[in-house]
Amino acid sequence: MYRGRFAPSPTGPLHLGSLLAAVGSYLQAKSNKGNWLLRIEDIDPPREPKGAADLILKDLEAFGFEWDGVPQYQSTHLAFYQDVVSDLLTMKKAYYCSCSRKLISQTAIRNNTGFIYTGRCREKSLSDGAIRLLTHDKMIYFNDKLQGTFKQNIEHEVGDFILKRSDKQYAYHIAVVIDDHLQNITEIVRGNDLLAVTPRHIYLQSILNYHIPEYLHLPLITHPNGDKLSKQTGAKPLNKKYPVQQLYKVLTMLGQNPDKSLQYEPLNNFWEWAIKNWELARVPRTIPQFVNEM
Ligand code: GLU
Repeated sequence: MYRGRFAPSPTGPLHLGSLLAAVGSYLQAKSNKGNWLLRIEDIDPPREPKGAADLILKDLEAFGFEWDGVPQYQSTHLAFYQDVVSDLLTMKKAYYCSCSRKLISQTAIRNNTGFIYTGRCREKSLSDGAIRLLTHDKMIYFNDKLQGTFKQNIEHEVGDFILKRSDKQYAYHIAVVIDDHLQNITEIVRGNDLLAVTPRHIYLQSILNYHIPEYLHLPLITHPNGDKLSKQTGAKPLNKKYPVQQLYKVLTMLGQNPDKSLQYEPLNNFWEWAIKNWELARVPRTIPQFVNEM
């Protein structure tokens, strides 16, 4: 059975960009007669304003999303993450690292996405610090259902990456992989900004002997200057008063060609039409024109 999910980080209210990811994953799940689960990725408390998770749930409800089961909260899963990270350490597939940010910035190679960690602490057998995953000189390939084939040599292009930071916070990469496994997710539909980190997830899944789900990375909405619409770039929160107009807008960006009249329909008619007529083949890989916020 198809199981999809939406996994927002509660770093602020939902905006048009997050709505597009929610709508794409919801329509994929519903049109496949599957489940759609909700997971709040609240593992970075300093970045999470109080009450943001509740606001997200209220917005999703106001926009007519119906999720299966109860929402999961990553902050309640820390013991699972710890078990897995401890196992990886025991199996010598992960190791402690004491390099400071400053040292890394002085010694690591820099590419366009950040620093490539050189594995300085690999052989040191330390017993404290950040925990990194040991990577190998191996190309990881996967076939994204929308973006096509993507490949990456993690050791060369990223380096041994962090699973748990020295301040004891778990990294997104380990949390997302464990939760998608625990929730038996069969297909991951999310924004294309996460395409380049997917090889890390697939690598972790293979080391942990998890089933590897399908991946589908949706086009991003951008500001007129090309920056991704996000909380950091000042995206406006969704407006709960006019859900259908905003849903109509993202459905159009997703290439579904709804009739103009759909934006004036009640919420349930909108969803009925959208689920019935959803066609993945029409979704563009990128959203060509820069779109201003509503
Ligand atoms: N929590 C991530 C975000 O809000 C999404 C993670 C995912 O879908 O894998 O950007």
